[in-house]
Amino acid sequence: MTADDAPSKSIDSDEPETAAADERIYHLDGELVPASEATVSVDDRGFRYGDGAFETLRAYGGQLYEWGAHADRLEATCDAIDLAHGLSRTELRQRIEATLAANDLVDAYVRLSITRGVQPGKLTPQPVTDPTVVVMVKPLPRGGLEGKPVWDGPATLQTVKRRRIPDDALPADAKTHNYLNGILARTELHDADEALVRDLEGYVAEGATSNVFFVDEEGLHTPTTETDVLPGITRRVVLDLARKAGIPTHEGWYRPIDVRQADEVFLTNTTWEVRPVATVDAIDLEGEYGDDDTTDGPPVTTLLAKLYDERVERRCYSD
Ligand code: PMP
Repeated sequence: MTADDAPSKSIDSDEPETAAADERIYHLDGELVPASEATVSVDDRGFRYGDGAFETLRAYGGQLYEWGAHADRLEATCDAIDLAHGLSRTELRQRIEATLAANDLVDAYVRLSITRGVQPGKLTPQPVTDPTVVVMVKPLPRGGLEGKPVWDGPATLQTVKRRRIPDDALPADAKTHNYLNGILARTELHDADEALVRDLEGYVAEGATSNVFFVDEEGLHTPTTETDVLPGITRRVVLDLARKAGIPTHEGWYRPIDVRQADEVFLTNTTWEVRPVATVDAIDLEGEYGDDDTTDGPPVTTLLAKLYDERVERRCYSD
């Protein structure tokens, strides 16, 4: 699996620490199978070349949160890499729901992967006749309201030398099996939780598996999707919530110094939801918070996290 989204207590891990994997049931090419039997060929192009698309989703209260947005992004990824898998979104959704039901899960981490499968020949892709389609699920309790976030505390962020692969080289809005860019960014970290990755021109792009936001006197800022950034679904939801709450929002081109000098910084992704940041490049943020019980935390981040939780509640837990 990719280093995507860390639902465990460790930000470096990408999966919740849960029951043994072989107790779970996965969905592989149309069949529900025990996880230990969910294997793919070493000739699979997803293994050989990272030639596949995936989505990380959450189920809250049995509902697939933002399914439409995830299905749209998966479709965009498949279009970008010319992977015509032939499955309808209804069918994909049914496979996810069947997997959740087979594991008796309502609050879960869900990963849906589609690769070009095993094909004759080498690098040049052939029309897809037999894609590999996998659904993996793991228990993941909700973070908000009565729940506990998947992370232990505010994140530490470090600017890394590794740059974001430019869109001209690999479509930035495609969520493919190839996560080496993020992996290499993470290997540079010294005692930091997440990498602050810049584009080739030095503008802030995103984290290794997250989008970056900061707050200053002008309002809420996040790198524009015109930079090389994955258009995160959590990012879009948070921007929408901020606008509705009357917080001025700005999507632009920023330098690490803008993030370092901000009053508040936070990261978003599907599993972390809204994760506050305490330090950037080992520098405490101006609007420092955290250990001191007398402070209520960074106000805008705290408000947006609450609004996010309430949205999850409305969409997934209300009758
Ligand atoms: N950027 C990258 C590189 C990511 O891997 C992720 C996680 N999918 C995100 C941003 C956040 O996206 P989302 O909010 O859709 O999880």
